[in-house]
Amino acid sequence: MTRIPDLLRRGPSTSFEFFPPRTPEAETVLEETLVALAPLAPTFVSVTYGAGGTTRERTHDLVVRINALPGMTAMAHLTCVGHTRAELEAIVTRYRDEGITNILALGGDPPADADVAPGELEHAIELVRLIRQVGDVAIGVAAFPEPHPRSPDLATDRRFTAEKLAEADFAITQFFFEAHHYFDLVAALADLGVDRPVVPGIMPVQSLAAIKRMTAMQGSEFPTWLEAKLHAVGDDPEAVRRVGIEEATRLCRELLDGGAPGLHFYTLNRSPATREIATNLGLATV
Ligand SMILES: Cc1cc2nc3c(=O)[nH]c(=O)nc-3n(C[C@H](O)[C@H](O)[C@H](O)COP(=O)(O)OP(=O)(O)OC[C@H]3O[C@@H](n4cnc5c(N)ncnc54)[C@H](O)[C@@H]3O)c2cc1C
Repeated sequence: MTRIPDLLRRGPSTSFEFFPPRTPEAETVLEETLVALAPLAPTFVSVTYGAGGTTRERTHDLVVRINALPGMTAMAHLTCVGHTRAELEAIVTRYRDEGITNILALGGDPPADADVAPGELEHAIELVRLIRQVGDVAIGVAAFPEPHPRSPDLATDRRFTAEKLAEADFAITQFFFEAHHYFDLVAALADLGVDRPVVPGIMPVQSLAAIKRMTAMQGSEFPTWLEAKLHAVGDDPEAVRRVGIEEATRLCRELLDGGAPGLHFYTLNRSPATREIATNLGLATV
């Protein structure tokens, strides 16, 4: 039984996040990505969950399939939104019975395009407790270096994150572009008495418009210096990609040098950026 907290103790981890594809074409892209990233020997991979259960079976099937590949450990994301307690217990029990021993417990956001009821559990910490009751499963939670957009203030968000992480095993962060946001989060959690591993989430910039949209959605900072650097090459998509990879590499180095327990890449189901950054960091020879 492979538990992510045990893997994190062995030294800096490399992990990749995927989402369950919707179409046969997207499935082919993900298959190619899995093949392209396999030589990087990820410590684990994770598969997102459509809040409200919109990807319930697809997330399940992909997690089970990847977890069965030689040397692969797959973690399932799961969200509270739109589910009854009994449904969540059934989902977690099924994973446990099928040998999936790592779950990322999330609050989730109600999808804008679907009519989803709020659900019986309001916050991720309640899902952490539910998973603990079901069985021997390692539990990750989300953490927000720049606080969560629904938080009234930074201190409140840090306190809720500390309470949640104290009952879980590790955290993975939302993406960010300035290392100090991550180190501030880790220091604040330590001040609150919580020193479980917090793995930083990395999102390489691939397109200025896309990253600005995503950053605005999560209510975080898109640094003006990075925007200026990207604008300077703005008409050339390949140059934008190159700057994105250079800056992500620099951020990863700073995080690892500062003691981060690993790097979690938001791959968006594509391989090139993650491969290039891993190669720059000397994590890969492919
Ligand atoms: C690594 C990562 C992976 C993700 N994967 C997915 C995914 O697969 N599917 C998906 O739909 N979404 C995903 N998300 C997004 C996430 O579900 C949303 O950002 C959601 O709004 C917050 O989730 P949470 O688990 O932090 O929720 P919570 O911990 O419940 O926090 C949500 C808000 O409530 C506050 N809060 C927490 N506890 C309490 C309490 N006891 N009382 C009052 N307020 C409280 C927090 O400060 C925060 O403002 C992911 C996010 C991250 C960082």
